[in-house]
Amino acid sequence: MSMLARARAELVALKPYASARRSGVDARIRLDANESPWDGDGAQAQAINRYPEPQPDLLRERLASLYATTPQRVWIGRGSDEAIDLLLRAFCVAGRDNVVALAPTFGMYRIGATVQGAQFRAFPLDAQNDFALDTDALLALVDDDTKLVFACSPNNPTGTLYHAQLDALATALAGRALLAVDEAYIEFADAPSATALIDHHANLAVLRTLSKAHGLAGARVGALIAREDVVDLVARIAPPYPLPVPSTRAALAALDDDALARTRERIATLVRERERLRESLIALDCVDRVWPSSGNFLLVRFDDARAAFSRLLDSGILVRDFSAQPGLAHCLRISIGLPEQNDAVIAALTGSTR
Ligand code: PMP
Repeated sequence: MSMLARARAELVALKPYASARRSGVDARIRLDANESPWDGDGAQAQAINRYPEPQPDLLRERLASLYATTPQRVWIGRGSDEAIDLLLRAFCVAGRDNVVALAPTFGMYRIGATVQGAQFRAFPLDAQNDFALDTDALLALVDDDTKLVFACSPNNPTGTLYHAQLDALATALAGRALLAVDEAYIEFADAPSATALIDHHANLAVLRTLSKAHGLAGARVGALIAREDVVDLVARIAPPYPLPVPSTRAALAALDDDALARTRERIATLVRERERLRESLIALDCVDRVWPSSGNFLLVRFDDARAAFSRLLDSGILVRDFSAQPGLAHCLRISIGLPEQNDAVIAALTGSTR
């Protein structure tokens, strides 16, 4: 069954905005898009007086090959943030529908749902149980008006991997809700991507990004990978030119063979550093718990998170304070940095007392 039956009917019927570049017609003298005939000023502005391709073919092909799927199943946007937002807009009828996600998890699902007027239902994970997911209990939150279920895996900020449960979850949600698997950190995990499951599940979508492992957070390039009908719907409601030319150039440069080989090495370094930092943190007196992580960060519970945060900041190190979130009292999230930066974290915390 196509998931379009669960999308907003007025959007499925919407005729998309016919932008100049969408027409597919090209000519020697282009006077069709109210662009400037001169290029912008400055080295950074070369050859960007023209609007970009809405979905650059070459980038789509490269991402499809990177994510082991077909170009037709890829929609590229301004970070995975934009894909999250568009999925919520495409599926949720304001004032009626709801979405389900884990708690704690990445904060933008709640923000995006609220902006769209959808109810946000949080399924609480238990820190004492290592944030394990009871899928039956999660499914109890799903009803006829649930349109999306967000599974962030590895989960931010806990680092927990839920990939072993995704197939069963997608089956349980078939024909009802789209399971959106956010794989922003999958490169750091010891698990294959869920994109292979899309062949078996019309209701599974995967979110990927070049912001983390590929080092392009500033370029804002992310991708939605899903069945063609879902990809087409998102493309139809997206703004006409989601991808700035300089971002596409940066993304293509990051996806050539040499760059990908470097990225693989960097991922291996970060994974080694994550385990080294974890061992070092566990050994510290001021640390109560460090959860295993499949991401490029560690969730750490301190005896006194405020003291640890200040101590780190006094040493010039900024980490993320999650201690105000339900179930995360005294927890800080520490991104894995360069080896010497991770050493600095340990040095700053060493000698702090209980
Ligand atoms: N998903 C998760 C789980 C994230 O942690 C983040 C960024 N913090 C994003 C998506 C957004 O990433 P992008 O830069 O691709 O918009």
